[in-house]
Amino acid sequence: MSKGNIGVTSDNIFPVIKKFLYSDHEIFLRELISNAVDATQKLKTLSSVGEVKGDLGDLRVRVTIDKKKKTLTVSDHGIGMTAEEVDRFINQIAFSGAEEFVNKYKDKTEAIIGHFGLGFYSAFMVSKKVEIFSLSYQEDAKAVHWSCEGSPEYTMEDTIKAERGTDIVLHIDDEFKQYLEDATIEGLLKKYCKFLPVEIAFGKKKEWKDGKEVELDEENIINDINPAWTRKPADLKDEDYDKFYHELYPTQMEEPLFHIHLNVDYPFNLTGILYFPKIKSNLDVHRNKIQLYCNQVYVTDEVENIVPEYLTLLHGVIDSPDIPLNVSRSYLQSDNNVKKISGYITKKVADKLAEMFKADRENFTKKWDDIKMFIQFGMLTDEKFYEKAVTFALMKNIEGEYFTLDEYKDKVKDSQTDKNGNLILLYTQDKEANYTYIERAKAKGYDILLMDGELDVHSMSQFEQKADGNKLRFVRVDSDTIENIIRKEDAAKDTYSDEQKEGLRKAFEAFIPQAEKLNYYVSCEAAAADALPVFLTQNEFMRRMKEMSAHQQGMSFYGQMPDSYNLVLNTSHPIIQDLVGKMTSEEVQEEVEKKAEKEGEEPKKETVIKTVYKLNGEDERLKQLIDIALLASGQLKGEALAKFVNRSVELL
Ligand code: ADP
Repeated sequence: MSKGNIGVTSDNIFPVIKKFLYSDHEIFLRELISNAVDATQKLKTLSSVGEVKGDLGDLRVRVTIDKKKKTLTVSDHGIGMTAEEVDRFINQIAFSGAEEFVNKYKDKTEAIIGHFGLGFYSAFMVSKKVEIFSLSYQEDAKAVHWSCEGSPEYTMEDTIKAERGTDIVLHIDDEFKQYLEDATIEGLLKKYCKFLPVEIAFGKKKEWKDGKEVELDEENIINDINPAWTRKPADLKDEDYDKFYHELYPTQMEEPLFHIHLNVDYPFNLTGILYFPKIKSNLDVHRNKIQLYCNQVYVTDEVENIVPEYLTLLHGVIDSPDIPLNVSRSYLQSDNNVKKISGYITKKVADKLAEMFKADRENFTKKWDDIKMFIQFGMLTDEKFYEKAVTFALMKNIEGEYFTLDEYKDKVKDSQTDKNGNLILLYTQDKEANYTYIERAKAKGYDILLMDGELDVHSMSQFEQKADGNKLRFVRVDSDTIENIIRKEDAAKDTYSDEQKEGLRKAFEAFIPQAEKLNYYVSCEAAAADALPVFLTQNEFMRRMKEMSAHQQGMSFYGQMPDSYNLVLNTSHPIIQDLVGKMTSEEVQEEVEKKAEKEGEEPKKETVIKTVYKLNGEDERLKQLIDIALLASGQLKGEALAKFVNRSVELL
């Protein structure tokens, strides 16, 4: 028997391992099984080049629990290790620079694993003692037994072992009893080992028989050793992709919309399959996530720093040995490979969408509503993606026809360009609520888009910003009179004096409904004679800012602004003209007289005499007109609506 010190001379590397190195204790199992799988794969490679002769026999990796001895064992039939190899690979901690590294990166020790081959030592996170029993594949090899109790001292001796391969025996710490439970281990195996390339067996298969769970004589295999992403796209049918989708997400009922098979080997290695799920609202977004694997070993489903944020809406797997494992987020973001990978995935996704759009537009259009949010999110957050996506992103009009931005601009440019050369795209977010406005726009031969998606407002603003010379504007149909929205000639004028109009406004203002966070501004406008006598409009800019502030940080200023509407008095309408006719003018000197009286003076000669118009005895008509305007915009509700109904009956 030999004794020795593990080849790290700093006080002790174990506390580092236990406390800092791994934030998740449970990954020890992943590390040990990865080693077992690697050893098995190496053996297969040696066999394929003829260095190992004969039948390799049973190659399953087995995980067993001994509750009495409080041990968890990982066994493989891989290449095994000689005593000399244990000394080199285990005692020297695989890497001479480990100590230096640990000292240098004390605070960032998570960055060590993966880079520096400390995988095996993770066993000490949960064990008070770890033993290795190993028999190398090499001819005449002697089996070796290594044992270490979590201090730099270890023992090594010859032993008897019948079968080639390695058993790693963990004597589980009392603190970590859960790792002696079948259910815990099975759960971890399912999480980390589901797609490993060598069969992993844990216990026996179970079956329900006569209301009881009985053990079968067959081993319980945890993994699918040939998951779809490792196979050639040419060998897979759509059904295979769908089947794999459900293997990945057993609780997901819905089928994915389509998939993208990723496969690169230069300048980095990456395989995977991404699925487009149906995303209808923010709620579904993070239920199932993209899973990241490294050579079929599960690493994480937190891929935020590896793929652009909008791609995290997708489902599926990415497998790349070139993504550093278990490293800090800031490290990932700055890693060059990760940047390239992210760029590659973006490009692949955009290309696939473009190809689908080209190859079968009808089918693409059918799926549009389901993928729209994802694509808009991508366009808003990723410049490169925008450039590609703008050629296939669709907009829908209220007739249910779909257009790309360019197609739509072409369609409406003749009729909807205003006198200043701005192309105005009309839209509604609610066909029913905007009905009267839509009818007026349609009567002019205009087309109206339906923009009722969660990101539509943001999307519109982006289109406007990107448009040549800012000559593109999206305007909601109810934001002004249609004549003002798309100005074709100079505004029509009425013949009333400013004083008359002010009198009219004041008369209406007296009956404006009062509500918190809601302002109505009354204005006079010579709109079309066949438009309503009084109607509401809402400024596009303010409304949009408010809507956008709901989604965006730093815009709460707009969110707190009250809702404001314009109550437009249509001076081209006979009813309003009739009201103007009923106004009486009083020439007043009131103010001057009052002032003079107070100061005991004679009013001065140059006093300005003001003409004030008053509209008396028309209260009921004014109330009725305001209510009609509110009603036409869906804002008349509750008590106000009841009053309106009663008043209407009385008027009849
Ligand atoms: P890594 O696997 O990252 O190289 P480890 O500390 O996990 O680092 O393992 C160090 C080395 O020990 C491995 O590279 C391998 O050569 C050897 N080793 C570990 N486990 C086994 C095993 N089950 N069978 C054969 N060799 C093993």
